[in-house]
Amino acid sequence: MNKPADSSQTIPVHRIEIPNPFFEGNTNVYLLESEPLTLIDTGIGTDEAFESLSRGFEQTGHHINDLERIILTHKHQDHFGLARRLQDLTDCEVHIHSDDQYAVTHVSERLQEFEHVLRERLALWGTPAGDIDRVATMPHRLDKLCGSTDAAAMSDGQSFSCGDAELQVIHTPGHTVGSICLLLEQTLFTGDHVLPGYTPNIGGADMAHDGLLGKYLYSLERIAAYDRPGLTVLPGHDEPVVDLTAQIRQTAAHHADREAALLRILQADGDMTIYEIAIAMFGEMHDYHLVLGTGEVHAHLEVMIDKGQVQIDSGRYWAD
Ligand SMILES: [Zn+2]
Ligand SMILES: [Zn+2]
Repeated sequence: MNKPADSSQTIPVHRIEIPNPFFEGNTNVYLLESEPLTLIDTGIGTDEAFESLSRGFEQTGHHINDLERIILTHKHQDHFGLARRLQDLTDCEVHIHSDDQYAVTHVSERLQEFEHVLRERLALWGTPAGDIDRVATMPHRLDKLCGSTDAAAMSDGQSFSCGDAELQVIHTPGHTVGSICLLLEQTLFTGDHVLPGYTPNIGGADMAHDGLLGKYLYSLERIAAYDRPGLTVLPGHDEPVVDLTAQIRQTAAHHADREAALLRILQADGDMTIYEIAIAMFGEMHDYHLVLGTGEVHAHLEVMIDKGQVQIDSGRYWAD
């Protein structure tokens, strides 16, 4: 996408859509025609993704070998999968928030640990053993889609120079603990923190961590403060977000509705495991949806326990 001529944006931004056979559909990466030539996210680590990225560079008059810097919005494979290959090709710098760094610098180790966490948590949450075994192979399927990358850690408030402009890092934990948004002049890149028309998964998308929904709701409010007339909002999937504040309100309302629905389930049935609550909420869940569904219920229950709405004892939850 080229910026309209009347925009006060001086650094041209191009969207390149990268096909993604997994997760949420095509991933958007953004090429910033700045000094240095910068890519926000890379897409998943397949040959097809690499071809799409190469073509995207060529359509903007660049060659993929000219890439100098990659900045990652978060640690998911559909966003950083090609980073290793691009780094091998171009020796470019790679940056990711410190809280997501290990997952991209130690891919195999982290996926091993992730399998362990998956098994432990799903068992604790009352998931049948057969379902756990089926889903536990998932980390190894992901292993083939990305390689460990020599990525430097970045932090909230840090900025990167893009010619005369600055690219500012805004830490927005929730979807993952190290998720960030990036502000460049009149453009806000939101990664998977804010998506158009739907709500990113919170809880299952970074299952090894606690307190994700509380962090996410706080991060939503934080990013709402950046809305202003003329702002272009470019997400990690799908089309640009037309109205940032409205999308944030809608996302927060979705979580409030889900919380109310969970409370009704617990008041009606009570004394349930997270797996049972997730089945009551979402119906039968298979493969990765089991992780996303139970993880999301867990994230909500944490907030509801904090509010005193829900009680827990020995892995079973109830509401008065
Ligand atoms: Zn993601
Ligand atoms: Zn994504």
